Amino acid sequence: MTDFASARAAMVDDQIARRGVDNARVLEAMRAIPRERFVAPDLADFAYEDCALPIDCGQTISQPYIVALMLAAADPQPGDNLLEIGAGCGYAAAVAGRLARRVVTIERHRPLAEGARQRLTALGATNVDVHVGDGSLGWPTEAPYDCILVTAGAADIPVALKDQLAVGGRLVAPVGAGAQRLVKLTRRAAGKFEQEDLGGVAFVPLVRD
Ligand code: SAH
Repeated sequence: MTDFASARAAMVDDQIARRGVDNARVLEAMRAIPRERFVAPDLADFAYEDCALPIDCGQTISQPYIVALMLAAADPQPGDNLLEIGAGCGYAAAVAGRLARRVVTIERHRPLAEGARQRLTALGATNVDVHVGDGSLGWPTEAPYDCILVTAGAADIPVALKDQLAVGGRLVAPVGAGAQRLVKLTRRAAGKFEQEDLGGVAFVPLVRD
């Protein structure tokens, strides 16, 4: 039987810290969340592999390093309001829930949203809310957000998400019609966004219903 706690510690050291993610709070949060609980039982032994894995509805749980990279770039603070687009199995939302005050996550596949909600409840993540819907519209009722993580790729960042980012807020998203780049936007003023390239990535597509 896999020793999940040791595998998780090794994942953080070897796949994340060694690649240069040095945000101590992100590393601690990644050490705390049992990734094996977010995949199907027959994939649990692979939960700490250095890759994305399939989940239901033809979707994926992101590679651990990418989750850490996005969170380190957004750098959620304890008082922050965080929006995630693409809950999937709820893994990144669970990690984010240890970093931010509150997490709102949106998933277009109802069965995934329901599974994510159950796992998050079982882990006691009471500050994370999962909604079913089209995340490209954001979640205006709880805006503005200090951090927005988009975990599905599109040719460009939906305008609604930029609108819902607080001034001083950070948005991290895969962008590109074919090859994708991970992009960080920092909102410096109402109409002023600073852009940074974090490297090449491969996410499932952001589907607008
Ligand atoms: N955050 C997840 C990654 C899931 S993969 C993790 O922790 O691993 C991305 C998810 O985005 C998929 O579940 C997909 O169904 C969802 N998705 C794609 N387009 C969407 C949209 N417009 N609104 C909400 N969710 C979307």
